[in-house]
Amino acid sequence: MPDASRPSGDPVGRPAGHPVGAGRYAPSPSGDLHLGNLRTALLAWVLARGTGRAFHLRIEDLDRVQEGAAARQLEDLAALGIDWNGEVVHQSARHAAHEAAIASLQERDLVFECYCTRREILEAPSAPHAPPGAYPGTCRDLSPAEREAGRARMTALDREPALRLRAEVSSWRVHDRWAGEVTGTVDDLVLRRGDGVVAYNLAVVVDDAYAGVDQVVRADDLLSSAPRQAHLAHLLGLPEPGYAHVPLAVNTAGVRLAKRDGAVTLRDRLAAGEDAGDVVERIGDSLGVPGCRTAADLLARWDPETLSREPWVVDLPR
Ligand code: GLU
Repeated sequence: MPDASRPSGDPVGRPAGHPVGAGRYAPSPSGDLHLGNLRTALLAWVLARGTGRAFHLRIEDLDRVQEGAAARQLEDLAALGIDWNGEVVHQSARHAAHEAAIASLQERDLVFECYCTRREILEAPSAPHAPPGAYPGTCRDLSPAEREAGRARMTALDREPALRLRAEVSSWRVHDRWAGEVTGTVDDLVLRRGDGVVAYNLAVVVDDAYAGVDQVVRADDLLSSAPRQAHLAHLLGLPEPGYAHVPLAVNTAGVRLAKRDGAVTLRDRLAAGEDAGDVVERIGDSLGVPGCRTAADLLARWDPETLSREPWVVDLPR
């Protein structure tokens, strides 16, 4: 059980006595949500409400922000019948908490500065079994003189050094509602980028804990990030949430659904003469529960046990 009575002043500044037991949906406001995003949001809402949890929305606006997209996303979610508890959190307003978490890792010597460019990382010879592009450890154990040289180089490039976690484990295990026990890589992941932006992996952990989120539902392209995030939570003394990664939506060629696939957003569907109920119905059909017109219908009728783990192939009439 997460600790509900954590004192304030903890690494994420979570208020004391914050209620526990919540799900969430955390879109990046880079454009309108497409059918796959809407399906994930509905599933997150149903899984939270169906287990008596609160449901929170968080706008992940640390980068890739499109003007006006966040407000449209909230409107679209509401149109499907999704409701939420409390204020919508904007991740950009959580800077102090993100920095406090980094500072608490720094105090334990779990952070190092990295002066590598992306290109240097890609071109460096990596460890024998490391995936391509994995951080080769270049800046992990530099001498003070080498660090000075690295900082001077950054200053010349008008960049900050990135901050990386000095990982002391190479893997971590999480539990996923459908995938079961999943063990995945933990590496010297970036905590703050060279452009000063706090890394997604850190922000998501700090902000989920702050909101009392103990159930993370999202698309399964993020399953491989869950062990890193759970390990960070562990290091920060935060409860590790349970995970439920749901299949991605793909086009008829099996490629991840995108804007170029046609009329894939709610607004596109409305322009094509459908209404929000039709869109929920389309999503319900994909889940094997025909005739659902609102999020509440799905909550009443969809059994999470029946979720297919295959991607949802979206085949829209042209
Ligand atoms: N903001 C991420 C996205 O829109 C989701 C992050 C998460 O749910 O952890 O893909």
